[in-house]
Amino acid sequence: MSRILDGKEVSASVKAKVAAEVEALKNEGIGVGLAVILVGDDPASKIYVANKKKACEATGIKSFEYILDENATEAELISLIETLNSEKSVNGILCQLPLPGHINEQAVIAAISPNKDVDAFHISNVGKIMIGNFDFLPCTPAGIIEILDYYGIEIAGKNCVVIGRSNIVGKPMAMLLLHRSGTVTVCHSKTVNLKEITRTADILVSAVGKAGFVTADMVKPGAVVIDVGINRENGKLCGDVCFDEVSRVADSITPVPGGVGPMTIAMLLKNTVTAAKRQNGR
Ligand code: NAD
Repeated sequence: MSRILDGKEVSASVKAKVAAEVEALKNEGIGVGLAVILVGDDPASKIYVANKKKACEATGIKSFEYILDENATEAELISLIETLNSEKSVNGILCQLPLPGHINEQAVIAAISPNKDVDAFHISNVGKIMIGNFDFLPCTPAGIIEILDYYGIEIAGKNCVVIGRSNIVGKPMAMLLLHRSGTVTVCHSKTVNLKEITRTADILVSAVGKAGFVTADMVKPGAVVIDVGINRENGKLCGDVCFDEVSRVADSITPVPGGVGPMTIAMLLKNTVTAAKRQNGR
């Protein structure tokens, strides 16, 4: 059986460091604050926002919540963001995605000050990640690197295969693995002979969003398997990976729930502390 890479344990260690840094900043008279904006009442988004608030409270970060009506206009949302951009007590701004269809997500992301863009979605932060000179890393991929580091899993020189090429997971994941000197292949919905490629992976990251997508025959014996997927099957939360069969082949594996998920919020808190430090010349 594979070793379980426990995201709850790793996220607890990140949160403990965040809490200590928040405390140290407080002692210097610097408060740390995160504004979270939710538009509409999508049930999954509501849960994410509530979890973020709870995590802020647990680490001493002040959370400011803004809930806008489903019919709020793009102009209203951007105007709120502009106010928060110049609000000193707000160090980070997060606008929960997805937004309702009548709002242009890219325009909203572009309105967030890059210094407060703790999701690292602003093109200026995306560009910085590309050249490897960044303050903020996108939370999910950064959380995965944190898991690999925590368990002493070497990336340099390893064959890393990422399934999925989204802007929030697949692409930045590939870039972070590349920064750590992995040999990276990105697969997607048009990839031919997917199985042949995934079987070359020493580190396999699946960010597809389909339950049961990664089967044991797609995994090289002894590989490290990271499951980013969040899916519901018969009301039960599961990832992309067929956990039971793959855990017989892989060396190490992240479970769902309790793997990558908890890391995303922990890294958001870490980015918020970084933002507070930078805004106060630290
Ligand atoms: P997305 O829908 O934007 O991207 C999915 C990717 O999968 C696409 O790039 C697509 O090319 C690829 N894909 C689809 N079918 C494929 C196939 N047959 N073969 C190979 N590739 C295929 O999704 P996303 O936003 O990147 O999220 C992916 C999954 O990760 C979702 O389940 C999402 O809920 C989850 N997620 C989890 C966290 C977390 O904190 N754990 C964070 C973000 C996203």
